[in-house]
Amino acid sequence: MPTTCSSIDPGPRSARGHERAVKGCTSCALHEGREQPVVGDGPRDARLLIVTDVPRRHEDIHGHALAGSSRNVLDEALLHVGIDPASVRRTSVVRCRPPEDRTPTADEVATCSAHLSGELSLVSPEVIVSLGAMPTSVLLGRPVRLERVAGYRLDILGGVTLIPTFHPSEVVRGVPAASIALRRDLAVAKAVLDGRMGSGAQARSELRSRLQQQARRSATGPRVHA
Ligand code: SF4
Repeated sequence: MPTTCSSIDPGPRSARGHERAVKGCTSCALHEGREQPVVGDGPRDARLLIVTDVPRRHEDIHGHALAGSSRNVLDEALLHVGIDPASVRRTSVVRCRPPEDRTPTADEVATCSAHLSGELSLVSPEVIVSLGAMPTSVLLGRPVRLERVAGYRLDILGGVTLIPTFHPSEVVRGVPAASIALRRDLAVAKAVLDGRMGSGAQARSELRSRLQQQARRSATGPRVHA
């Protein structure tokens, strides 16, 4: 589970309660400079939740997670793999834009993560796609390098499949391979949702069996006698 802070109650929420909690939140200093916090947009019962890191200028103006070019890139990639963008919910770990677009502090991330916990209880997604290292680390509860986990099916929160991938802003910036990776990883999410690929829990159990088989083979393999 994401790190939470006792100043925000992440308990069970209605959609309206969640919106009220985010819009009225003053639990950290980031509320002082915001235009609009990111509440999360898309169906309340979406099977796929996309989690980004922190609002920038466009997100702050519109109050949406992902706006402007990043949203266009993401929606194009979703359509490319056969996912209707209107069926997806998008949200953000940090809800208020930091001044000068500085990196949020660890305390700010931890405090705001309670809203993510509340939204996860509200939406109960089957699959989460995390965009970039920060949301991936928060959802896994430990720091990770994105390159090491991108495209993998991971099991979190007792049965939710997490698929980390690159942030669409990397595609906008022209980072090599980001566009291919984003589409590849969204295609994995689509395959899990369609039942063509196993969940994160199944992927973990398959890996465990493979490792056990390898260990058995090496234990019973041919012995070389001197
Ligand atoms: S960033 Fe999050 S915790 Fe901080 S004021 Fe905004 S909603 Fe509240």
